[in-house]
Amino acid sequence: MSEQYDVIVIGAGYGGVTTAALCAKEGRRVLLVEKTNQAGGKAQTIRRNGYAYEMWPVLSLPAADSQFHALVAELGIEDEAPLIVPEGDKAIELKYLGADGEWRSYIGPSKQAEDPLALDRLESTFGVSKEDVEKMLALVGQVLTLSEEEIDALDDTGMLGWMRSFGVPDPVIAYMSAMLNLVFVSPVDRIPVSEGVRTLRQLFLGGGGRYHAGGYGRPAEAAAAYVEAHGGTFLTKTRVERVIVEDGRAVGIETDAGEFRAPVVVSNAGIQPTILKLVGAGNVPADYAKTVENLEPGMGMVGVRYFLDERVLETGMIVAFSNESWWDTERYEAVQRGEWPDVPLVFAAVTTEYDPTLAPEGHQIILVGLLGSPDPKSELNDEVIARGEAAIAEMWPGIPEHIVKREVYTAASVSNMTRDAVVPGQGGECIGLNQVIGQCGLTKPDARTPLPGLFIVGTDAGGFGCGTHQAVESGMAVAQMVLEDLATHAPA
Ligand SMILES: Cc1cc2nc3c(=O)[nH]c(=O)nc-3n(C[C@H](O)[C@H](O)[C@H](O)COP(=O)(O)OP(=O)(O)OC[C@H]3O[C@@H](n4cnc5c(N)ncnc54)[C@H](O)[C@@H]3O)c2cc1C
Repeated sequence: MSEQYDVIVIGAGYGGVTTAALCAKEGRRVLLVEKTNQAGGKAQTIRRNGYAYEMWPVLSLPAADSQFHALVAELGIEDEAPLIVPEGDKAIELKYLGADGEWRSYIGPSKQAEDPLALDRLESTFGVSKEDVEKMLALVGQVLTLSEEEIDALDDTGMLGWMRSFGVPDPVIAYMSAMLNLVFVSPVDRIPVSEGVRTLRQLFLGGGGRYHAGGYGRPAEAAAAYVEAHGGTFLTKTRVERVIVEDGRAVGIETDAGEFRAPVVVSNAGIQPTILKLVGAGNVPADYAKTVENLEPGMGMVGVRYFLDERVLETGMIVAFSNESWWDTERYEAVQRGEWPDVPLVFAAVTTEYDPTLAPEGHQIILVGLLGSPDPKSELNDEVIARGEAAIAEMWPGIPEHIVKREVYTAASVSNMTRDAVVPGQGGECIGLNQVIGQCGLTKPDARTPLPGLFIVGTDAGGFGCGTHQAVESGMAVAQMVLEDLATHAPA
């Protein structure tokens, strides 16, 4: 006899735990099944040898008033998972390599809109004129004032062309594109304005660089514990092998720990692994299976974790770049041919600047991310990491001098930890599906699948914006759909 639940959630990433906890809150019996040791998915916090850290840099936006704030408030777990919204005027650093070969820094508050010196600092950092800054302000003005209908109408327009239409100079394009590359990990020319503008609006109004006390994964751990405290079960180290389909409906799961049944199955395992592997293409309409197979994974992010015996960096979030560092489709193709920028786009999360208790006293954790390929077998990523580390040693010679431990991660590490590779070149995508025209905004895949009883949750459906933030948003939307369905099909 298999165990019966109201809702089964496959995967305890931010999308999965959000749906699971919100369904448990409404009195539904929830089974949350996770193949790794703990909740948090790609953003989970590992605790090892006196350090607490994520496998890669995870800071999110908006920093203030985010869906994370809404989630912890809804569950009443604010005290177990305090969210750190960076404060003060040294919250973020932009390091820009000018055409003259000089590195210049902008160090400022998380919300640049609240920095009285922002314009002066942008002018001096990027070496642009007052007129150029005014063009940038016109662009920012549009970001803040476009109506929802106007934004939707830009669903097929790419961010790069749109930004260029304001006549802003290359350093401003470099700055905006670097930010967009890091938020979406997609080529800038193909990020739709609809997605880009909505997310930049969140950034300008809510700031960037949110982290969580105890580690980025803490709210996910607290949400999974909430499921257990509200009559549900959280199984870790349990891999779902198959979604059971009977009479044209998802009715349960088969795992390495046995079989479980529920009228609703929600998968956080990624739309492609869910449909093509766990469900099987034969159990959904052929055109849907084909559409899912043809979806494009986002780009990868690869890099290094540094554990230092001294505080070398003094800012929690650092983005370093030149005019050549950001990637659009053309530049991504160029690096695949071996044509590299002068310096890679470097993203550094210095998590001990947010919460010093994450490391032994006086030690520092620096998690570095670099744009790469999502293909777990890609050889490009080794070169990305070598070039990234050379730039880091040049910018911050103190880092190589104070290393206690150094760990490299690749697209294969990302895939092994979270998302199975089921189509060629896929598995190590940083965020999830590529957030490009045709796959997000109005054309984002539906969280509700054609297989009755099966929903997709997480970055692949149901939300918009920056990685973990869109996963939580999706989790909230899917919880609503599931609860409505259950009210009809399986009253509590
Ligand atoms: C290098 C890197 C840097 C990033 N930086 C940021 C950042 O700065 N800010 C940000 O917001 N986002 C960042 N992200 C992206 C963000 O982490 C993800 O987009 C987000 O966490 C995805 O959430 P999710 O709920 O969609 O799924 P995931 O986090 O992928 O969770 C899916 C879960 O399902 C589990 N699972 C999968 N298959 C099975 C199975 N068969 N059985 C049981 N369990 C299964 C997995 O183990 C995992 O726990 C980064 C990601 C990477 C890789």
